[in-house]
Amino acid sequence: MAFLNHLKETLPDVELILPSDKTFADLAKLYTLSDTSTPLAIAAPRSIDQVSHLIKAAHTHNAPVSVRSGGNDISGRAIVNNVLTIDIRALNHITIDREAGTATIGGGTNFETLAAELDRNGYMTPCGTIQWIGYVGWAILGGYGPMADKFGLGIDNLLGAKLVNAEGEVVVADEELMKGIRGAGGNFGVIVEATIKLYPFNRVLAGSILFDSTNLDELMTKYLSGIDALHEASDYPAELSVQPMWVNSPMGQIFGAVFFWADSDHERGRIYVEKIASLANAVMNTVSVVSIPEFLASVAPLVPRHAYTTCRSLSFTKMTSAIRKVIIESCKRMPTMQGPALTWHELPACSPSVHKSSSLPAVFGARRPHFVLEVLGNVVDPEHVREVAEWAESVKVELESQAAEDILDCKWVPLTPTKGLGSLDKLFGEENAAFAKKLKTDRDPNGVFRYALPPLTIE
Ligand SMILES: Cc1cc2nc3c(=O)[nH]c(=O)nc-3n(C[C@H](O)[C@H](O)[C@H](O)COP(=O)(O)OP(=O)(O)OC[C@H]3O[C@@H](n4cnc5c(N)ncnc54)[C@H](O)[C@@H]3O)c2cc1C
Repeated sequence: MAFLNHLKETLPDVELILPSDKTFADLAKLYTLSDTSTPLAIAAPRSIDQVSHLIKAAHTHNAPVSVRSGGNDISGRAIVNNVLTIDIRALNHITIDREAGTATIGGGTNFETLAAELDRNGYMTPCGTIQWIGYVGWAILGGYGPMADKFGLGIDNLLGAKLVNAEGEVVVADEELMKGIRGAGGNFGVIVEATIKLYPFNRVLAGSILFDSTNLDELMTKYLSGIDALHEASDYPAELSVQPMWVNSPMGQIFGAVFFWADSDHERGRIYVEKIASLANAVMNTVSVVSIPEFLASVAPLVPRHAYTTCRSLSFTKMTSAIRKVIIESCKRMPTMQGPALTWHELPACSPSVHKSSSLPAVFGARRPHFVLEVLGNVVDPEHVREVAEWAESVKVELESQAAEDILDCKWVPLTPTKGLGSLDKLFGEENAAFAKKLKTDRDPNGVFRYALPPLTIE
């Protein structure tokens, strides 16, 4: 209470929203409807100076804070009971440096705002597929998406950052901090600005290809062996990304692939549209030349804006026949209401993020080629939460029992509940875990940012 009173008295210009305020429910709403945490209050700073004043007050009162941007953490960990939430969505400025080929963006900028501004200026940068996700929140925990094959994960496009550190000072991140931020995220400060890499084109070939899914066994066998054959060819293009997805659609359950060709040579890309569409019986193909904002807008209606969530995720090094079998059986058992889905990202060997020479220093642990399976236990109707949760957990358990030797120790933080993350050694590797822990002790000794992801206290 003393902390809250201090904020009210000393920072009258910073918008402070209390749980009793009318606007609170709207402002506190996250992607997940399952989290019921109530923060001490939400502070909505409008400038970097205001963030600095807030953290100085937190430091004086030895009070921790949490940081909220897009609000898409599946477990809702941006809001913590009785802890001040700093909502940085108003920090969404974007400055493009054409000479350097970079943009400096506010720490609360989401993909939609970023992609629109870059598009107006003839650029693009890797991002995820859901437009309301915060760029920084996405990039600091890995940052998977359709451009990772060609240009690398979010962490490898995050060149620099400006932080408000644990004492409330505004600092430019040094190399040590950048290495820590790339994987351990907001553990060392509020990232008020990020400098990111740009690519000088803004039209790609993208869309969805849906397949006749009446015989799932046959379809998946054809599709997956076809994708394997493409990968094995010596001319497999890094520009190509296909994200497979099993979803409940108005037409019933259907298997499709989000196709993305990350290059301006659309003619070459069209060859691969044909190759993917002919892997099985395609019943719909929306792939066309689009801008990134158009691509993001086309994906948005496929995903509920808010859902009850019990997602699970596992990463594995190869798509073995045992894993395929579990995936196919899990698709067949997936509950049929709006929300649940099964999909996977692939980080192939051609991605710059798996090569030491082209990736940036990071504590992030998943640096080898791998697949990240997303078991999206999302559901809009609260009546079905239990059924969907049981399905999501059963997929994970089944995979762990059938494919233990191919599963990476390193969990994907955004889709893994904190208690399932395992040890920091497993998450980052021993050397990086020791580095991150020391950095935390040096830069945030009192744990102002102890609620950042992943918690650096996990053993
Ligand atoms: C529908 C959906 C689809 C998704 N698809 C993908 C995908 O394709 N690829 C992928 O990689 N991920 C995906 N994710 C996961 C998402 O990228 C992560 O959960 C990400 O952390 C969300 O960031 P946010 O800012 O939107 O969320 P928030 O919940 O606001 O932030 C998550 C955490 O990031 C930290 N944080 C955010 N911004 C800052 C900052 N400026 N300074 C300090 N700390 C900060 C905080 O610790 C916060 O707890 C998806 C999530 C959802 C809900």
